Amino acid sequence: MFSYKLGLEYAKELDQNDVLATYRKQFCIPTNEHGEPLIYMTGNSLGLQPKITKTYVEKELNDWATLGVEGHTQGETPWLPYHELLTKNMAKVVGAKPIEVVVMNTLTTNLHLMMVSFYRPTTSRYKILIESDAFPSDRYAVESQLRHHGFDEKEGVILWQSREGEALLCYEDLETIMAAHGDEIALIMIGGVNYYTGQYFDLKRIAQLGHKYGCMVGFDCAHGAGNVNLNLHDSGADFAVWCTYKYLNSGPGSLAGCFVHERHAYNKELNRFTGWWSHNKQTRFNMRDDFDQLPGAEGWQLSNPPILSMAAIRASLDMFGGVGMHALTEKSKQLTGYFEFLLQQLGDHTINIITPKNPEERGCQLSIQVMNADKRLHTKLTKAGVLSDWREPDVIRCAPVPLYNSFMDVYLLVEKLKVILNDK
Ligand SMILES: *Cc1c(COP(=O)(O)O)cnc(C)c1O
Repeated sequence: MFSYKLGLEYAKELDQNDVLATYRKQFCIPTNEHGEPLIYMTGNSLGLQPKITKTYVEKELNDWATLGVEGHTQGETPWLPYHELLTKNMAKVVGAKPIEVVVMNTLTTNLHLMMVSFYRPTTSRYKILIESDAFPSDRYAVESQLRHHGFDEKEGVILWQSREGEALLCYEDLETIMAAHGDEIALIMIGGVNYYTGQYFDLKRIAQLGHKYGCMVGFDCAHGAGNVNLNLHDSGADFAVWCTYKYLNSGPGSLAGCFVHERHAYNKELNRFTGWWSHNKQTRFNMRDDFDQLPGAEGWQLSNPPILSMAAIRASLDMFGGVGMHALTEKSKQLTGYFEFLLQQLGDHTINIITPKNPEERGCQLSIQVMNADKRLHTKLTKAGVLSDWREPDVIRCAPVPLYNSFMDVYLLVEKLKVILNDK
């Protein structure tokens, strides 16, 4: 646990003692019309651009310009095995073995591909359990899978809900649901870090509980990857998916990650959708061979991937590889703890932080509920040079990202918020 002090001088001192402080200079920080940096608190929606990204992308553009089709096999970073350059660092970021991880497609696409394999409903066991405030895309994906298999999308979804008047979910309630309906549930699919409240779930506990009742268990880690130590392998989850444009700073709509637990790596019986990129690399281009499944997560690839997007991911992952998730989460806990401290010191009874207080149960994001507020509050913050995220009806989400946000950012944010709250 850290202890903090008030005041501008203390914020400066924290920045001076920050061992990751130099990383901020390696990012492009958006500015206002006067060229002054904005206080960027939306790395949970779109992470900032590392300055090295341009070099990585330009390199592939140059190879394409000078090599044409030969770029697939020639040049320093041939495109055919290009995704393999991402695997090691990505596996480290999410706490997995290399065979369990691949970068491919986009997030919701990967979620569907995973459900093709891990949602295998029967007439008695066909329900899908999700958290009540699941990200809309996840809910739609789950509902469409139920419809696709001929089930009713409302009846087939079981919600893990928070208690009356509370925002966070309780494991005891999940246990109660499982005791009553465990044998009807085919799949548990939870957002590893809830996008709205910032609650980071105990993945291992949920996976163990699900497996005890014979369910498959998967996680959408869009808000977890690059933010918390996910330890996916150790969690025992059957699969996980995440995007790379939030905390992984790889650019708008960039490709997504996918994890399939090692115990499924060599199982050729698993139902799946396939394409030529799921086929054995050695014989892929013979074209006329019968299908030969690639082992591991790579065996779920369909297409040859967009290299320009992968180049941006590679730039970012090289940076993550250099920093390491341990150092990152250490700073993150201090930065978000400082943010929480300053908010509490405001002594304003109209604000309520709904994110868990325990640093082990959250990432960098704090979701701040403001009583009787509406979107004008968010507009005022934006005018004051803070990019934050507003979620109806009354929540501001702010994510101080340890790689590029400073303690000064957090200090200034709270100062601005104080002024705005006082004049409401
Ligand atoms: C950001 C996010 C998405 C977005 O899905 P895309 O397929 O990348 O558009 C889906 N689910 C969760 C939980 C997210 O946080």
